Amino acid sequence: MAAAKIDGKAIAEGLQSRIGAAVSELWRKHGIQPGLAVIQVGEDPASEVYVRSKVRSTIEVGMASFQHKLPATTSEVDLLSLIAKLNADPAVHGILVQLPLPSHLKASSVIRAISPEKDVDGFHVSNVGLLSTGQKAIVPCTPLGCLILLRETLESLVGLEAVVVGHSNIVGKPMAQLLLAENCTVTVAHKETRYLPEVCRRADVLVTAVGRPALIQGDWIKPGATVIDVGINRITSGGKRRLVGDVDFEGASKVARAITPVPGGVGPMTIACLLANTVSACCDNVGLARPDGVSF
Ligand code: NAD
Repeated sequence: MAAAKIDGKAIAEGLQSRIGAAVSELWRKHGIQPGLAVIQVGEDPASEVYVRSKVRSTIEVGMASFQHKLPATTSEVDLLSLIAKLNADPAVHGILVQLPLPSHLKASSVIRAISPEKDVDGFHVSNVGLLSTGQKAIVPCTPLGCLILLRETLESLVGLEAVVVGHSNIVGKPMAQLLLAENCTVTVAHKETRYLPEVCRRADVLVTAVGRPALIQGDWIKPGATVIDVGINRITSGGKRRLVGDVDFEGASKVARAITPVPGGVGPMTIACLLANTVSACCDNVGLARPDGVSF
């Protein structure tokens, strides 16, 4: 039987509509409007698209959007001074610096300057430490989106063999932490992993975040596995440009129990989770409980 397609678009729309309702309630009951500031340095074309869509979604759910577009030549001092202003601004509950930054700016120093309470990307070392020690943290948006998709698909994750392919700070490592927190048995694979097909074949839950089209073949998938494909790769086939993930979707669909498509799987969850993190950061900031169905 062909694998069920995990409809990330529909699940993200459901989350986004719950976020919209939570935002209205915050305003109605407490006169508070969550606000998200997005800083973009330079004109990287992919960043332009991502920032536009983040700003549009922020406004759609009724939150305040503060956009700061800085020239590629912006100095670290100027960028840090803007972040300090936003840290101190009570109307701003979340701050996101769009990556990648121009090469003269060091992402780790810039992220460290963001107040951890407003770090809605969950990249600050403080949030990384909280997540890895099982404490309440702001969790990076893409792995959080993957976890929500898994929870929607599987009754329980407890005791499952999970393999995460990719060990970046923004996807692979936090994904592994989230799966550990669910009591999965977790293996993290990467570009130096030996016998990758065998490692993948162990997985009841396989999450791939690599950036290589069709790296993961159908016969690397354990029958009945759930596959979450984070990869976004632009390829040309039959003269047409299209997006594909890291997994050979056709091949994997014949073996897996459920699989995310690319596009329409993890991608839409990332922005919905950014909005969810901003609502949570706002509630933490004013001492209200994080709303049900929106915080994780
Ligand atoms: P990255 O380049 O920081 O990390 C890639 C990881 O893949 C590394 O850990 C590396 O060791 C591993 N790797 C490389 N070649 C490998 C191989 N042959 N076998 C096994 N592992 C290998 O990338 P990233 O930022 O984590 O992103 C990974 C992918 O996820 C990219 O395609 C990116 O576009 C996509 N992504 C999607 C979303 C989304 O919202 N859907 C968000 C973030 C990233």
